[in-house]
Amino acid sequence: MKKLDRRQFNQKLLKGAGGMALAANAPLACAMGATKEKKKLGVALVGLGGYSTYQLAPALEDTEYCYLAGIVTGTPQKASTWSAKYGIAKEHIYNYDNFDAIKNDDAIAIVYVVLPNSMHAEFCIRAARAGKHVICEKPMAMNVAECDAIIDACKTAGVKLGMGYRLHSEPYTQEIQRFVKEKTFGGVRYITADAGYYSGSDPGQWRLDKKLSGGGALVNMGVYAIQSIIYGSGENPTSVAAQEFSTRPKYFKDTDETITAQFTFKSGAVGTIMTSHNVSANRLHAKCEKGWYELDPASTYIPLAGRTSNGPLEFKQESQQKLQMDDFAKHILLGTPNLVPGEMGKRDMIIVEAIYRSIAEGGTTQKLDFEPGYGFAKS
Ligand code: NAD
Repeated sequence: MKKLDRRQFNQKLLKGAGGMALAANAPLACAMGATKEKKKLGVALVGLGGYSTYQLAPALEDTEYCYLAGIVTGTPQKASTWSAKYGIAKEHIYNYDNFDAIKNDDAIAIVYVVLPNSMHAEFCIRAARAGKHVICEKPMAMNVAECDAIIDACKTAGVKLGMGYRLHSEPYTQEIQRFVKEKTFGGVRYITADAGYYSGSDPGQWRLDKKLSGGGALVNMGVYAIQSIIYGSGENPTSVAAQEFSTRPKYFKDTDETITAQFTFKSGAVGTIMTSHNVSANRLHAKCEKGWYELDPASTYIPLAGRTSNGPLEFKQESQQKLQMDDFAKHILLGTPNLVPGEMGKRDMIIVEAIYRSIAEGGTTQKLDFEPGYGFAKS
């Protein structure tokens, strides 16, 4: 298949669209006219763990529509290291207690919550109440009720809400979405996705502590597999039944180790997922009426790889986090669609809860009843 650079093409288009949108926004247009530079939105990262340190902060050095403007950390040592490394002034550094003062910080437009899952709801809601747009890491929260509370807080405050689902900004994933939309291979008949890794031998990590994580492999990696079968089929599922497997119960005392689940879709397609903290797996494969497509790996940072019954896929590799944060900033600045709205995170949590319910009931089939298109990208 021909080598494409969809991003460059999109950016050309967006620059044009942005010019038009900005003409209606006098202060922004003036600022842009004066500097001949794009407006960039300030992002504050909340939680400076592995993902912020090794993925998000480096990506924010390359983003075109946003930049690292502030940090929120409970560790004073990290505050000084990050301040020196990224040139963040004291007045843009917060801890978990004084975080609400961020509402007076005009340098920060977006708060990105990158904390253990049990802290997502609290900090997303506090960020919304401070008048900041919010990006929430996956899984959205501990349960559907918390997802609702985050969505309501953002609506009430009139701020935008996006999920940290980076793959929706990534070209291999976008190509699969195009196949679905254009029915390149006809309708999907069967779709399967795996997402897992070997959790090693660190039983003290927060991901294995249900109070902090909300669950095991399913909430951590399973959400990628759930995402894959939905964007890879273009439909929300109508039912799910699930099973749990445990081969290391002493290590996985509190959280699920491996889960499989089977789905039905309104179109007649069927799907399966496998997620695990004990098996390294990372794949999406769809059998369609007129061929097939697959990504393997399907959800690592980079590089993804893919093939179809017509041949290999090949796209330029870029930081997915850079693309994702720029897409969210463009949504705010230019009114482009929100590729990963809060409802998408809530939809996935509804499915997670149904899977756990099915397992608790010995593998019963759980009905899922989404409005058509619920949780998909929206303007
Ligand atoms: P991490 O363990 O590396 O970092 C967690 C951060 O939270 C640390 O800075 C830690 O100090 C802080 N923290 C505050 N209170 C804590 C507590 N009670 N226990 C433990 N840590 C506490 O985790 P991470 O890998 O950076 O993950 C953070 C979030 O980002 C999670 O929700 C995770 O699912 C998500 N994540 C998303 C991706 C992705 O590709 N979208 C990748 C990795 C992580």
